[in-house]
Amino acid sequence: MAEKAQQPQRTDVNTLGEFGLINHLTKQFPILNASTKLGIGDDAAVIDNQGLQTVVSTDMLVEGIHFDLMYSPLKHLGYKAVVVNLSDIYAMNATPKQITVSLALSNRFSVEALEELYAGIYLACERYGVDLVGGDTTSSNKGLIISVTAIGQAAVDKLVYRSGAKVGDIICITGDVGAAYLGLQMLEREKQVFLSSPDVKPDLENEAYCVGRQLKPEARGDMIRQFAKENLVPTAMIDISDGVASELFHICRASGVGAYLEEEGVPIHPDAQMLALRFKLDPITTALSGGEDYELLFTVKTEDLEKVKYMPDIYIAGEITAAADGVKLHTKGGNIHPLQAQGWVHFDPNKK
Ligand code: ADP
Ligand code: MG
Repeated sequence: MAEKAQQPQRTDVNTLGEFGLINHLTKQFPILNASTKLGIGDDAAVIDNQGLQTVVSTDMLVEGIHFDLMYSPLKHLGYKAVVVNLSDIYAMNATPKQITVSLALSNRFSVEALEELYAGIYLACERYGVDLVGGDTTSSNKGLIISVTAIGQAAVDKLVYRSGAKVGDIICITGDVGAAYLGLQMLEREKQVFLSSPDVKPDLENEAYCVGRQLKPEARGDMIRQFAKENLVPTAMIDISDGVASELFHICRASGVGAYLEEEGVPIHPDAQMLALRFKLDPITTALSGGEDYELLFTVKTEDLEKVKYMPDIYIAGEITAAADGVKLHTKGGNIHPLQAQGWVHFDPNKK
């Protein structure tokens, strides 16, 4: 006998009122950091960084531009909105301590939907040890907008800027790159299949790695802790949100240098390699221009080579050169191509 589909409960946000809603969504968030003197509830939060530098970064995510609720569950979205901001703080070699979350909501969103969003935000706060200390809540005519601000701290001599790379420095990449972009291609494709034939079950299980990298990325706080433990301060660093090529250009421009990138050194997960080929894409091209990996691209002095060589999950991918040499890619086939500013390297595997 067919069971009647259960309708999810849908409580209109107006039943709680603005203050009631904020209180309902944020009351279970604990304060984890001594630097958080005052969190939610007054006109402003109070933070005491006790002589350390304060690092601040903001990102805004707009429905239909940065995310699609058809395949991005609200809990994942809340998690990701926080993580991408923490990634920016880590990219300064700083430690995130607080976040604020601002929302613009259409009446399409119920209290239950917002509970899901905040469950993801809570999970990220818990995992990364940050405090939710404020935000703003307002209405929008259409769709959802989430803006997260992350606040962190670092000793003045530990901060790492994009501008510090010097000729001869070694280029390093953490984790692996390209998978998040391929995960997005997969989700987009399945969405089109679903829209044309809703009865077809999505075929995502085999691509769990790439899809997971897109929907639930992690920020590399573990790397920053590892640097501190080994007493290593990179000369320049950036997080990989727009793709390795574009981020390398940012470092080169800010530092007034060039770069020699080795294709061999760019880490690509085997699942990303396979999925790229399924989409008839060149794996290295997706790795260099994909984006949303939230890994770290950084440079170290040659005397620190021994240190990075033995650190887990760090890959040596090239060398900083003089600005006049430009930004080049040395392919596995032995060719040297100028890297394209937008990241796309036109690569013909049949041409030597
Ligand atoms: P005000 O009118 O002074 O801007 P609000 O009513 O917007 O005050 O906010 C009251 C408190 O709730 C403040 O501490 C604010 O930072 C916090 N807050 C508001 N919206 C959110 C939200 N979406 N998430 C977390 N905290 C929020
Ligand atoms: Mg307000």
